[in-house]
Amino acid sequence: MSNPCIICVAITGSLPTKTNNPAVPITVSEQIESTHEAFEAGASIVHAHVRNDDQTPSSDPEKFAALKEGLEKHCPGMIVQFSTGGRSGAGQARGAMLELRPDMASLSVGSNNFPTRVYENPPDLVDWLAAEMLAHDVKPEIEAFDLSHILKAHQMWQAGQIAQVPYVQFVMGVKNAMPVDRDVFDYYIRTVQRLFGPDAPWCAAGIGAQQATLNDWAVAAGGHARTGLEDNVRLDRDRLAPSNAALVRRVVELCDKHERPVATWRQARSILGLRAGPEKEQAA
Ligand SMILES: [Zn+2]
Repeated sequence: MSNPCIICVAITGSLPTKTNNPAVPITVSEQIESTHEAFEAGASIVHAHVRNDDQTPSSDPEKFAALKEGLEKHCPGMIVQFSTGGRSGAGQARGAMLELRPDMASLSVGSNNFPTRVYENPPDLVDWLAAEMLAHDVKPEIEAFDLSHILKAHQMWQAGQIAQVPYVQFVMGVKNAMPVDRDVFDYYIRTVQRLFGPDAPWCAAGIGAQQATLNDWAVAAGGHARTGLEDNVRLDRDRLAPSNAALVRRVVELCDKHERPVATWRQARSILGLRAGPEKEQAA
């Protein structure tokens, strides 16, 4: 049975800086170059935040527009996913880039604790972000920091606030949120399959040293995998990751180990029910 594994690369995030790892891409041109290398290594989704020149998080739609244009030029077919996460701005500023119509955007549907603060996702903002995604034909990726977020996504789907079967990403290992716990992970999978169907795709992400653990669990269990410097800047205790592509290659090795092909961008678009991608590339 062939069940291609979609590799998502979270290139930048809003926290790591060049002090943590000089390979973290900050400027738009660095982001495009880093993504291109990760795309060639096997990633088919890029999850992106943008930064100001001083490395602080930004939600500037002009930066997102420049990034999208460069990614579409240099990584044709790759799925572009923008973050609407809460570190880069407050309230509706978090969704100001949705009118650029990226293929996907992250969507947090509930609140939880983060390492040093509350990650606030009040119901009216969640509803607004979901409505913007519907209006602009942007597929949400539901960031499940907690079990309740999976059930909330189901309610939103039933209510017509999410167009297609929700694509859920389990996030584990964020301090003060859900720890890395195998029983919970298995229950997350069962819950997705019960609510969204046995073949519903899902993804998982682990933070820090747990990234490799969640990659291994997800690939082995038939899910999709997220990696990248946003979640983890190290290869192991002693070595910084030299690039986003190096972290992608680590997931490719896990796909080999668990005998799963790495999804091409065309396969990834089909699995996720996305727009087909650039037609001029169809013959390639
Ligand atoms: Zn992110």
